[in-house]
Amino acid sequence: MLAVCKTKAAKGAVELCENLPVPEPAAGEIKLKVGATGICGTDLHIYHWVPWAARQIKVPQILGHEIAGRVVALGEGVTGIEIGDLVSLESHIFCGHCHQCLTGKAHLCSQLHYPGVDRPGGLAEYVCVPARIAWVHRAPISQQVAAMFEPFGIAVQAGLEGTGVSGQDVLITGCGPIGLMAVAVARALGAAQVIATDLTAPRLRAAAAMGADRVVDVSKEDPVAAVMDLTGNKGVDVAMEYSGQEKALSQAIEALTRGGDLRLIGAPDNPVTLDLNRIILKGINVQGIHGRKIFHSWSHASRLVYSGKVDLQPLVSHVLPLREGVRAFDLIERGEAVKVLVQPES
Ligand SMILES: [Zn+2]
Ligand SMILES: [Zn+2]
Repeated sequence: MLAVCKTKAAKGAVELCENLPVPEPAAGEIKLKVGATGICGTDLHIYHWVPWAARQIKVPQILGHEIAGRVVALGEGVTGIEIGDLVSLESHIFCGHCHQCLTGKAHLCSQLHYPGVDRPGGLAEYVCVPARIAWVHRAPISQQVAAMFEPFGIAVQAGLEGTGVSGQDVLITGCGPIGLMAVAVARALGAAQVIATDLTAPRLRAAAAMGADRVVDVSKEDPVAAVMDLTGNKGVDVAMEYSGQEKALSQAIEALTRGGDLRLIGAPDNPVTLDLNRIILKGINVQGIHGRKIFHSWSHASRLVYSGKVDLQPLVSHVLPLREGVRAFDLIERGEAVKVLVQPES
């Protein structure tokens, strides 16, 4: 089969591989005919061979962790899933028996593994994964939309954490794909006002299309002043930081009302400097978001999409055939894409 692989332990070195053996499911696994796979910033980090990637990935490895497909085979002992089911995959492969797994926090499992990182991923014609990470869709959604459930679930989880968003003024800093999904989630979950910031015009246009009340181009305008103007100098009740940029984090804290919620989603590339008194003296509640609650976030995400409250399709800017999948890395790198999906030929 065809697959897009990291072939060498070095920067770049992402290539199309041909004539790879089609995998067969072990006990407890399912085999998917891949329908669509998303590519994101994590994949770009692997492309650039950042330190965590170099530590964690054994080459050659098939990339891709935002996966949807149809079940074509079941390993021994798999129940509750049928041949032909459309599934999206939770990318956090949890162990099921550590302290976190036993206390309802499997997304923070101490032994996490990921398809496309520690084991073959979904930029391929077929992939086998543990059945326990499959979310079976019970509504007729497209494979493209199904492939976006993994990142979408993060935006859903961020919207549900802490005080939620209902009736609140919400700031979203960073309008990459997940930030844009977060705009739609905040809108759908009943935020009062949604303010979104970014540096690029296409992303700001997309944020407005996803339901932001106000978009702020931070290269031209001070987002804190815009927030104060829109909230009668109160500040936002909830700030969600998606960019991973130190400056955006600082602005988010500044824009928050006293006692507000700060949710951190975007992972900074380097340590940031922060005067903690700004958190302490404002009584800000800080929550890190890593992945989706399994399967609490998935259940909410499904209702939002199945009911039509959130439409993810407009986020798809490029769909590439698997044979040209390597181009996706270039498209994302050049900032020309919103969401890039790769599809094996059907
Ligand atoms: Zn991803
Ligand atoms: Zn565990």
